[in-house]
Amino acid sequence: MEFWQKRLRESVTTAAQLSRHFAIDVDALDRVAARYPLAITPHYLSLIEHPGDPIWKQCVPDLRELEDGATDADPLHEERLATAPQVVHRYPDRALLLVAGSCAAYCRFCTRKRRVGCAEARVTLGEVMEGIEYIARTPAIKDVVISGGEPLLMSDLLLKQIFERLGRIPHVEILRIGTRAPVVLPERITESLCNLLRRCHPLFVNTHFNHPRELTPESREACLRLADAGIPVGNQTVLLRGVNDDAATLEALFRGLLRMRVRPYYLHHMDLVRGTDHFRTPLETGIEIMDRLRGTLSGLAIPQYVVDLPGGRGKVPITPQYVDKLGAQAVLRAPDGERISFPNL
Ligand SMILES: *Cc1c(COP(=O)(O)O)cnc(C)c1O
Repeated sequence: MEFWQKRLRESVTTAAQLSRHFAIDVDALDRVAARYPLAITPHYLSLIEHPGDPIWKQCVPDLRELEDGATDADPLHEERLATAPQVVHRYPDRALLLVAGSCAAYCRFCTRKRRVGCAEARVTLGEVMEGIEYIARTPAIKDVVISGGEPLLMSDLLLKQIFERLGRIPHVEILRIGTRAPVVLPERITESLCNLLRRCHPLFVNTHFNHPRELTPESREACLRLADAGIPVGNQTVLLRGVNDDAATLEALFRGLLRMRVRPYYLHHMDLVRGTDHFRTPLETGIEIMDRLRGTLSGLAIPQYVVDLPGGRGKVPITPQYVDKLGAQAVLRAPDGERISFPNL
């Protein structure tokens, strides 16, 4: 067994185990965890300083998850867009390949909360291979996003098989992996994994840091190992109420990510997923934060703020308004708020 697998086995997966570390209401947590599973890796658990802090909120079950609200279990219509086992094909040129049904740590705000970590979400290699056959017979797909669950919970050997099969499809031009392992299980980013991945170029990795407290030396080393394997590493952050919904927190996060050679890619508005209402901010919060960051931060550190539209209609960027007026004399707004006239041919 590899070291990262041993560490994974030491994860907290029940409310009773968590109660050894913190004073919690075990019954309440059990009720939530029965519906939406609980797992916290030793590394991520070690980042919690006190109950209710930004790390805690992301990983400890909360009774509010059981409030169904006006939201949908599958607002992005991923089930409808599943064109083959484990494939979500929404945009013509890109497809998601969901290779794993579980995660090292369960995010309480997960967009696939309806299934990830549940018994029926278990994925077999046969299903993944069927998904790959669909991609192979669909020449429009040029970009495959390998996601889950946590794809890097698979052994190197299985990953190698999947990458080799995808690598033999002539129309697939690039591969991407979506993973939270660098954040919650940095031990997983081993030299041998990186040596496997460096043979899969052009390969991009998108990871998922949400708070500057997650930028630990271990996570930094994990990201640097990926970058040293020639992999451009991006980051997708979810805008979370009470966790990172202010400009100072996100500025620290995005600056810190660049220092670890990770490029902020998306800031996701919280999807309209059932059981996540307590995490959602108004759109105005995200727009205001983006406005504050512009003019303060290098463009390299600024992700695109996106809303994934309900009904599987796709992601759209939401930006502060910089265009006051178009036409021969356009008027644009500077980062300091001043209106600047701009001769426009
Ligand atoms: C987000 C997403 C993608 C990738 O979108 P990019 O904007 O290219 O990063 C592809 N397919 C689905 C279904 C998605 O949700």
